[in-house]
Amino acid sequence: MKTIAFTILSILFSMTLHSQKPEDTEDWSRRPEIVTPGHNNAPPSDAIVLLGGNETLSNWQHQDGSAINWEINDGVLTVKAGTGDIRTKSGFADVQLHIEWQSPAVIRGEGQGRGNSGVFLMDKYEVQILDSYENETYYNGQAGSIYKQYIPLVNAGLKPGEWQTYDIVFTAPRFGEDKTLVSPAYMTVFHNGILIQNHVELMGPTIYIGSPEYEYHEKRLPIRLQDHGDAVSYRNIWLREL
Ligand code: MG
Repeated sequence: MKTIAFTILSILFSMTLHSQKPEDTEDWSRRPEIVTPGHNNAPPSDAIVLLGGNETLSNWQHQDGSAINWEINDGVLTVKAGTGDIRTKSGFADVQLHIEWQSPAVIRGEGQGRGNSGVFLMDKYEVQILDSYENETYYNGQAGSIYKQYIPLVNAGLKPGEWQTYDIVFTAPRFGEDKTLVSPAYMTVFHNGILIQNHVELMGPTIYIGSPEYEYHEKRLPIRLQDHGDAVSYRNIWLREL
């Protein structure tokens, strides 16, 4: 009896399966927008260019809102020690960010004191920039680390004086109506085209001492570049809002 019931069920199931058509699983709900990739290192057609090409420094300011004091030369922006961090005038949330950076060719200092800068997503979540070429420091503080949270999967760093790239996919944290955390921030990072952070869940904002903890913040916040006293240079910074 059981066998007969099972056979009937199987037949019914396979009939339902075959009553479906290939078209039933075709999705026509969203036509992907056409984006033209950039040639020769140029940004893609839908990117917001923050530095490079004809972009001036008008996208950036110091933390206090003053005009930036870093060196600019032929589209290359270099930290001027002691002038402070700079950040974008606009705020962003979920982004794909491309940034090119260079540690000073002449080596000065060691550990955290050598070619240190950093790119902060939403002003708070730092991907470390450091000259990590034959330069030991704590591993969750070397180039490509999510500072004091995640060690990079590999050290993909180039020699000082060479241009390097980060391509970062950032998902902003979400907060509820009551300002409590609904979902944390995530980051994926490629360093010189090599995957070094694979969708890691951030523990909270970057802090130097202690354990990070999320605190409610606005939905969109600037991207910040760090003045850590070293003459790190930047060029070709663009992002795509996701
Ligand atoms: Mg730093």
